[in-house]
Amino acid sequence: MSGRKPWYSTGLRFSCTGCGYCCSGQPGYVYVNEEEIGRIAQYLGMKVNEFVSRFTRETHRERSLIERPNGDCVFLDPVLRSCQIYPIRPRQCRTFPFWNSNLRRPKDWNDVCRTCPGCGKGPVFSYETIEELRGRIDI
Ligand code: SF4
Ligand code: SF4
Repeated sequence: MSGRKPWYSTGLRFSCTGCGYCCSGQPGYVYVNEEEIGRIAQYLGMKVNEFVSRFTRETHRERSLIERPNGDCVFLDPVLRSCQIYPIRPRQCRTFPFWNSNLRRPKDWNDVCRTCPGCGKGPVFSYETIEELRGRIDI
């Protein structure tokens, strides 16, 4: 390792507009580990087993939240377009858009900025903060 900092070492701008785009549309995964499953089940006042069978599915990796037939995350309110479990949303949602896959090259970040209206705008997230978020989950 050269110790050279990556291309985003001066920070990146981000401010979520709450548009809900990243929670909707195309099929994908929203991974949840055991701790998150327990926390969300508790928040919803459900037994863990019931939550797991109603709202998650197996994947090649961790379990994932399921989607509605239109591709929306099951917890995206269809009318308000907001997250129904926002205070305890999973790591993957908390750390977006600072995912490994979005930070490899400037092009990857620019691609996200084309679909997420909050990317590249608003306050600067420092390099240290980005690294902390990026390190929470490998997406
Ligand atoms: S697409 Fe971007 S701005 Fe819209 S809800 Fe997701 S993170 Fe926020
Ligand atoms: S859990 Fe909430 S923030 Fe995460 S994808 Fe679903 S609706 Fe969006």
